[in-house]
Amino acid sequence: MNAALEILRRDFGGDIIEPGAEEYASASRTMLVTGSPAVVLRPGSVGDVQAAVRFAADAGLALSVRGGGHAFPGFGTNDGGVVIDLGGLADVEVVDKERHLVRVGGGATWGRVAAALAPHGLAISSGDTRSVGVGGLTLVGGIGWKVRKHGLALDSLVAAEVVTAGGQVVRADAEENSELFWALRGGGGNFGIVTAFTFAAHPTTDVFFGRITFPVSEAAAVLRGWADHLRTAPEELTSIANIANPLAGGPSAPVEIYVAVDGDDPRLAAEIVDPIRRLGTVIDDEVALRPYADTLVDGIVAPPGIRLVTRSAFVGEESVPEALGIVAEAGAAERAPFISVRSLGGAVSRVPHDATAYAYRRAELLVVTTVVGPAPVVEAARPVVESVWGRLAPHVDGAYAGFLTSAAEEDVAAAYPERTYRRLAAVKRQWDPGNLFAGNHNVRPA
Ligand SMILES: Cc1cc2nc3c(=O)[nH]c(=O)nc-3n(C[C@H](O)[C@H](O)[C@H](O)COP(=O)(O)OP(=O)(O)OC[C@H]3O[C@@H](n4cnc5c(N)ncnc54)[C@H](O)[C@@H]3O)c2cc1C
Repeated sequence: MNAALEILRRDFGGDIIEPGAEEYASASRTMLVTGSPAVVLRPGSVGDVQAAVRFAADAGLALSVRGGGHAFPGFGTNDGGVVIDLGGLADVEVVDKERHLVRVGGGATWGRVAAALAPHGLAISSGDTRSVGVGGLTLVGGIGWKVRKHGLALDSLVAAEVVTAGGQVVRADAEENSELFWALRGGGGNFGIVTAFTFAAHPTTDVFFGRITFPVSEAAAVLRGWADHLRTAPEELTSIANIANPLAGGPSAPVEIYVAVDGDDPRLAAEIVDPIRRLGTVIDDEVALRPYADTLVDGIVAPPGIRLVTRSAFVGEESVPEALGIVAEAGAAERAPFISVRSLGGAVSRVPHDATAYAYRRAELLVVTTVVGPAPVVEAARPVVESVWGRLAPHVDGAYAGFLTSAAEEDVAAAYPERTYRRLAAVKRQWDPGNLFAGNHNVRPA
């Protein structure tokens, strides 16, 4: 590797960080996982990314590509391999004011995008956290606060600039390399390094946003009424229901209903939110008008030794009552995992199921469980979590790759139903036959 590194050094414009360097410790870790890579490369240009990819391929070492570094399995680092950290490619530029086209560097974070677009009165529906990367989130889906009105983040993607496993730069959009474009929208980082994303942003106003809390004893009725309301409410409403939030007291914590109303009309907000307020005994109501960018929160970097285990599955319309009944019961029980239920439907479900590699278009809800703590705590919680998922199994389908700590074969199979997987594997064979980009929920070349 050393000889190859010497060659790379000659014209690499970014940073090359090796063990012993001052920055090595911070450059080796992601939000959740500490690694010990042989080298971390931080490209400063697309040419640097090409050089870094060629170097990694020649070195024959494991490769991790890091966007925002938030993948739960810690895809953005490794032990003994190469990390390409895209943090230096983070520009956000409105490139077409009339069509609201925005070019975003492959290593930008959503906080940066929201802040850059706010002065233009624009936003892209993304996620709920500033420090999450545009790369990782867009490539698997992107379930944010405008998801029911504007769809997933990947539904706003109109083109991608990609450095392939062979080190070439190609464009992927609806006309050019359209099959690659299909795969990039849901298939994760399997197909190349996206150095720039072009999105069609949405005009945005301030939005009504906040949390309404109810006693956990009313969980069953509140969750059921919430799901019924979502089915008929205007698509301006996107919502998340949380139960057993560990930061608010675990199983005795109140049920939290977060609402985001995409608009600044108080009458529309009242029409949308008042039925939720009437679902039970409101303990607290923080819904207020605020800039869209202020709805995003900061991610917390987990201290060394703290693990965060998350798992998810989709719920179709017919299974909503049973699934929410189980969630309400499980969330109020002793040693419950943190359970979050995200609303989908709306614009997400209007996209044909095979238009992108994100397959679960018809789901109404996404259930996510999370356990956080040192290894013994996580291990102790495992039987309870298994039992919750065992009960949910007949009522849920697949998994969202963005909320999956495990990356075993069954997780890949859950994220990508068979037909989707087969099509992804064919695209993989064309663009990455040697499986250089394997640090993800990996699709093997067909
Ligand atoms: C605190 C927190 C909050 C979250 N909130 C949401 C949410 O509201 N909605 C939601 O949908 N998801 C959410 N997620 C899940 C999130 O979408 C995934 O964790 C995602 O993988 C993070 O992307 P990243 O770029 O930060 O991560 P990374 O670990 O850097 O990358 C994740 C994967 O994408 C690949 N990748 C990243 N950038 C590129 C690129 N430019 N080109 C090619 N491959 C790339 C990496 O190789 C890796 O395989 C959240 C996660 C966390 C930890």
